[in-house]
Amino acid sequence: MPPIPTTMRRLLDDHDGLLLDAYGVLVDVSGPLPGAVELIELLEATAKPYAICSNDASRLPATYAARFARADLNIPAARIASAGMLLAGYFSRHAMEGARCAVLGTPDALAFVTAAGGEPVPLRQGMEIDALVVCDDEGFDFREALDLTLSAAVRAVSAGRPLQLVLPNPDILYPKCAGEFGFTAGGMACMIEAGLARRFPGLGLTFTRLGKPGAELLHFAHRQILGGLRADRLVMVGDQVETDIAAAAAAGLASALVDGISQWSHVQDPLHARAAQPAATSSGAWRPAAEPTYLLSSVTP
Ligand SMILES: [Mg+2]
Repeated sequence: MPPIPTTMRRLLDDHDGLLLDAYGVLVDVSGPLPGAVELIELLEATAKPYAICSNDASRLPATYAARFARADLNIPAARIASAGMLLAGYFSRHAMEGARCAVLGTPDALAFVTAAGGEPVPLRQGMEIDALVVCDDEGFDFREALDLTLSAAVRAVSAGRPLQLVLPNPDILYPKCAGEFGFTAGGMACMIEAGLARRFPGLGLTFTRLGKPGAELLHFAHRQILGGLRADRLVMVGDQVETDIAAAAAAGLASALVDGISQWSHVQDPLHARAAQPAATSSGAWRPAAEPTYLLSSVTP
């Protein structure tokens, strides 16, 4: 069934709980997006259950809540689920207690790894690691850190040591402000994977992606924040088909796409995108990663 154009008001009427992506839905680097402040005020005033589901692995929930508050979004830390919070489960399932981890990310990202049982090691030449955890693009010298972590990964694989490659935030890019984009953790992981593939062809050394488009973050938020609500009464609101909408599909939840990184008119019609790039070719077999249940032009309630 093709996506149904709707309004936030109708989404709220028809569902018992909301899962909300943050970047591109509520905020961008410049501050709150149109309608976001009014939406959060309404959710809080009416005690409508909601959870923030962000691939961001660079901020602890309290840090995130403080940042939201600076954008006039009064979101309690207890309503925030981020991909960094999935590290604890991953480390536990893979018996990674005490693993020496090269962590790309902020001090909060290191705190996620430490809380999960890992031991962050200082990024330096010659470091030996058991795991490489790519959380974020901030908190270090981008180029130097990529060189050091790629080198440490090559040394570990060359020595035949097991190496865990963990990517809480698979996002390749994020919206900075109108018309501007930035690379983030997923883009860095792609570079490291490309380097490892060149050095070790055929080994298939790839990162385990924890956040969206996998279902785990949405299941985590449902269990931890929206416990008691039926899955068929929830809706995920996001701005990226490849992450938010695909994650909702993987989790078996309804979804609403708000125009942001993905614009449904472009996703639906590759010829539209091709018109802007005459050299590109469009395969007849091309399909969107997932189809949203609804289309939202704005989160304004
Ligand atoms: Mg987003």
